[in-house]
Amino acid sequence: MKIRAQIGMVLNLDKCIGCHTCSVTCKNVWTTRDGVEYAWFNNVETKPGTGYPTDWENQKRWNGGWTRSRSGKLQPKQGAKWRILANIFANPDLPEIDDYYEPFDFDYDHLKSAPEMKAFPTARPRSKITGERMEKIEKGPNWEEILGGEFSKRSKDYNFEGVQKEIYGEYENTFMMYLPRLCEHCLNPACAASCPSGAIYKREEDGIVLIDQEKCRGWRMCVSGCPYKKVYYNWSTGKSEKCTLCYPRIESGNPTICSETCVGRIRYIGVMLYDADRILEAASVENEQDLYDAQLGVFLDPNDPAVIAEARKAGIPEDWIRAAQESPVWKMAMDWKVAFPLHPEYRTLPMVWYIPPLSPIQNAAQAGKIGTDGEMPDVRSLRIPVRYLANMLTAGDEAPVVQALERMLAMRAYMRAKTIDGIIDEGIA
Ligand code: SF4
Ligand code: SF4
Repeated sequence: MKIRAQIGMVLNLDKCIGCHTCSVTCKNVWTTRDGVEYAWFNNVETKPGTGYPTDWENQKRWNGGWTRSRSGKLQPKQGAKWRILANIFANPDLPEIDDYYEPFDFDYDHLKSAPEMKAFPTARPRSKITGERMEKIEKGPNWEEILGGEFSKRSKDYNFEGVQKEIYGEYENTFMMYLPRLCEHCLNPACAASCPSGAIYKREEDGIVLIDQEKCRGWRMCVSGCPYKKVYYNWSTGKSEKCTLCYPRIESGNPTICSETCVGRIRYIGVMLYDADRILEAASVENEQDLYDAQLGVFLDPNDPAVIAEARKAGIPEDWIRAAQESPVWKMAMDWKVAFPLHPEYRTLPMVWYIPPLSPIQNAAQAGKIGTDGEMPDVRSLRIPVRYLANMLTAGDEAPVVQALERMLAMRAYMRAKTIDGIIDEGIA
């Protein structure tokens, strides 16, 4: 057994209101420099939607040059290896600027220089690349949401209605949810495996994945290698950059900036103990639907005396062991089993986990699903299809998602049974 400590995060999607405060504060701290105008180390995308960069979940599109060995290690496909070594431009799988979005600001000058007119002048979006005014913003992480607003006018252009109908049935059954995303600080990071310069490393003490800016040669193999598309190339420095999990803040005992400023209070940070010897085994299980369970098998119970003894032997500090015992990530992911890894089928063992949303909760309440009748509600009749959540969080295994939603509904019913004095209605309890 090789015990390591890892910082992880749980994001409760049931509480995210899509305000983007996390993204904006992250941008202000980390990516206000030249060359990364387009980069959002943290972004909040609208689902179901193509996300940021567009189509990032379409692994067939991005992984043309890469394959995995039986042990789960990422390696260039035959032939691709030589193309890659020969020429950086042979890397076939890089997203282009249009796949992110065209960076823009607003034409504030127009507010001062506009001729006299009846209506108050407005500051229209202006491209940061061409400097030209933009008549419409074609793409972005929340494109589908904007489209939702313009549904009646433009549905024919984008076939929004058609796409949703095809997948989810009638228009009144359509749904929307928010998915905040950052680097997953994976236990088996594909970005590190794909870097020809050895510039990407996982910190021994807390598992944070970082890019050594001195060593980075700008190959951008990490950009194509990361299945979550969470590495960004800085066009000004010629180096790749990514989320650092705010390590200077973590080292001084503070939460990441996205967690500290989250309006919905959806973010929980915690320490997990895991067995590094089990990683490759978990990453290479044959059946995709077993990947979620395999990932659970990597983590160690921080309250088990044998684990504590091993952790001390491995030099993990006492306060980290205590943090693992009190970890909300352990409680939600392992104990209560309400949080799940994002796309475990990518096999990188991601460490940002998600509690699936029940929402819209009013919809559930109106349908009598948050009941006072003592019966267990049927989560399959909630608006967001379980199949959709399972494809996102458990590689298609619906049973754990159903169990988590039932637990959350039961907790809501229990909390609703409380009066403001904290007295529980016995019948409901
Ligand atoms: Fe690397 Fe991507 Fe995993 Fe982050 S999410 S550690 S960039 S593979
Ligand atoms: Fe969601 Fe919190 Fe970000 Fe707002 S700040 S979008 S609630 S994760």
